[in-house]
Amino acid sequence: MTRTFFNRRDGELYVENLSVAEIARREGTPLFIYSQTALRVAYDALDKAFAAVPHTICFAIKSNMNLAVVRTLVERGAGIDVTSGGELFRALQAGADPQKIVYSGVGKTDGEVDEALDAGIRFFNLESRAELGCVNARAEARGVVANITFRVNPDVDPKTHPYISTGLKNSKFGIPITEAREAYAEAKTLNSVKVVGVDCHIGSQLTDAQPFHDALLRVRALVEDLRNAGHEIQYLDCGGGLGVVYNDEEPPSPKEYARAILDAVGDLGCEIVLEPGRWITANAGIMVAEVVYEKNNGGKTYTIVDGAMTDLLRPALYQAYQHIEPVGPARGEERLVDIVGPVCESGDFLAKERPFPPVEKGDLIAVFSAGAYGFSMSSNYNGRRRAAEVLVRDERYSVVRAREGYEDLIRGENLGEGLDEELAE
Ligand SMILES: *Cc1c(COP(=O)(O)O)cnc(C)c1O
Repeated sequence: MTRTFFNRRDGELYVENLSVAEIARREGTPLFIYSQTALRVAYDALDKAFAAVPHTICFAIKSNMNLAVVRTLVERGAGIDVTSGGELFRALQAGADPQKIVYSGVGKTDGEVDEALDAGIRFFNLESRAELGCVNARAEARGVVANITFRVNPDVDPKTHPYISTGLKNSKFGIPITEAREAYAEAKTLNSVKVVGVDCHIGSQLTDAQPFHDALLRVRALVEDLRNAGHEIQYLDCGGGLGVVYNDEEPPSPKEYARAILDAVGDLGCEIVLEPGRWITANAGIMVAEVVYEKNNGGKTYTIVDGAMTDLLRPALYQAYQHIEPVGPARGEERLVDIVGPVCESGDFLAKERPFPPVEKGDLIAVFSAGAYGFSMSSNYNGRRRAAEVLVRDERYSVVRAREGYEDLIRGENLGEGLDEELAE
């Protein structure tokens, strides 16, 4: 997805039919603004690309967990890919159909497995044989049968950032595809799990369709083997990972992505499950921040804004490029600046050595492609209150998460006075 729903009118940035500056002046900064239409259009494009086969699009809720965002997708028919009990809770609160929820993640605890069993999710994507034992035992204790797949690592290099590369044989995720047959054989001996499919997720922000195709050819061979061994493989979960345009990337279109997948596995008769996150949400959102100061140190210009790594971690964590523009018309010629937040870390930057027009205190800037892994990775470090989130549809907007107050920063804490009491002899 590109930034279709963010446009300029008379030099001013608009989201759908609303002025970004007007929303930000009313709701304050830093502020996340999402376009509901962009979310719908992205979801629908992917849905349509897979129309030829039975499929479920399980939105990776970790990319954007806001209830209103999730509800928007659920109303289009989306299922949800969750990675924790907290995400399962959010998915259910947003109205997701449990029968369309899949549960991934390497460290599901007993309590989380119980919650997912009670909710009646579609299946667990198991990431180890230890986890198989756990899910079987928890299901047995509840007198139910858990549907499972194994997440296999096809050992294909997705050619993306190492931190978001997940399908290599030595990764912490899943099980090596070479050990999958044994794992499935073990599952068959257990009474409280039922094999329903195979899962793989090779990485995130893939800008080439070939690794998806290569990975799924290996998965295909596995599916054929497993069927020969008597397993029913009803679902093929192809994970997420479709890349988006942050800068000058040229990721596959939904059609090209679908072709890469369906050419490899489209004729297996499986229902295709997809777990896209970034592709649906990244370019449906921006983060707006206000310029606090500018300063020059040792020949470098720093534009200091009130949005930070605590609001948008990707630049600090992955050296990721996020496109940034002034919300209003440019005030002059671009020069090279570092756009940084106020957090006490040198890693706290939004952009480095970036050509950017001059700004004045109080000007607003928009950080694009902030709808995925933006707010959902935010924190309270440095005593920062987390930003507000706004959802826009046409000429209307709704604050779908209130800005945190100081009281939110100390919720659940106390002064430890219990330690001061005398111990009884
Ligand atoms: C993060 C993740 C996704 C979503 O990845 P995107 O790159 O946002 O599409 C899907 N599946 C699993 C298992 C994940 O960990």
